[in-house]
Amino acid sequence: MNTTKLYYEDSHLTAFTATVTCCTPVKKGWEITLDATAFYPEGGGQASDTGILGGVKVLSVREENEEIFHLCDKPLEVGSTVEGTIDWEHRFDLMQQHAGEHIVSGIIHKRYGWHNVGFHMGADVVTIDFDGPVPAEDLQEIENTANNAIWQDLPIKCWYPTPEELPTVPYRRKKDLPWPVRIVEFPGYDICACCGTHPKTTGAIGLVKLFSCVKFHQGVRIEMACGKRALNMLTAAYEQNKQVSQAFSAKLQETGSAARRMNEALAAEKFRASALEKQLFAHIAQGYAGKTLAVHFAKDLSPNSCRELCDAIADFAKVAVTLSGNDEGGYCLCVLSHTEDAKAIGDAAAKALNGRGGGKKEAFQGRISATQGQIENFFAQNEI
Ligand SMILES: [Zn+2]
Repeated sequence: MNTTKLYYEDSHLTAFTATVTCCTPVKKGWEITLDATAFYPEGGGQASDTGILGGVKVLSVREENEEIFHLCDKPLEVGSTVEGTIDWEHRFDLMQQHAGEHIVSGIIHKRYGWHNVGFHMGADVVTIDFDGPVPAEDLQEIENTANNAIWQDLPIKCWYPTPEELPTVPYRRKKDLPWPVRIVEFPGYDICACCGTHPKTTGAIGLVKLFSCVKFHQGVRIEMACGKRALNMLTAAYEQNKQVSQAFSAKLQETGSAARRMNEALAAEKFRASALEKQLFAHIAQGYAGKTLAVHFAKDLSPNSCRELCDAIADFAKVAVTLSGNDEGGYCLCVLSHTEDAKAIGDAAAKALNGRGGGKKEAFQGRISATQGQIENFFAQNEI
């Protein structure tokens, strides 16, 4: 039996009264049909409504042969009159995203001739795929045009053309559709075959924000958000920028250049620290002149610096061993020699001191989990 589709009569209808015509137990609950409903089913890329029907939860809604099936968590009595309330926040969000998608798709179709070939609604952004390229530098202009369409608060018109009228309607489609076709028109921006629900005017979309445009298959994927969703994302980005601005003591519009300057300053400081390390390592190395074995513990060195210090010492001692770390977390170990088998020494140390590592005859690098005392004992007892 056909269900009267109240959502097509008024897309802003949130509550209604209807009679239960059937209630069938299914795997995930009960499927309930009504003589009329404002619950929109899944379709055309739009998710179904949720809400409350006669005091029970409506989990999802589907359409089959003009009949609307409400999947509910509890049964309802056939023949009873029930009140239905749809989750308006959920529906309005879907309508804002969907209507924004129409406008952006219409603009891109008119400008480049490409079709919208995919649509996905994520937790935050919405993606639209097009079957041809859109230059990333055009994105701002497309966004401006879409927002102008919203601010003009144009009426969104839905209708079924007659069989005679249909061939004259210049609607966006990839192929001709059989009559009857439901047409939705955003005057001057989009005219398209669509079975979805739409706001009454474009102003309800609020705003459109295009976030990115990347190559996808033969065309592009555009990330966007509309209405409250877009506002929430921009508010979150603004909050982040505020924190960056405070951290850098920079104006909100100048955080990018402040971050770049900070990166440059950091690179210069790294360069300066490395030069100072080199001087310090040369000084330490000279202290091991003439030694057969130099075992040196250094604080807080990176594995690279541990290796550089070892390199410096190996120019003065026959075998250089450097370690950096602490008794709790373990030590990074480096063994270097111009004459002896550094790998054999490193392997033996790793084996005896709960470690691992690798290298070649002239150099070994690894990590060991032992105390400074245990490490010193090992090298004192194992003659090189
Ligand atoms: Zn639509």
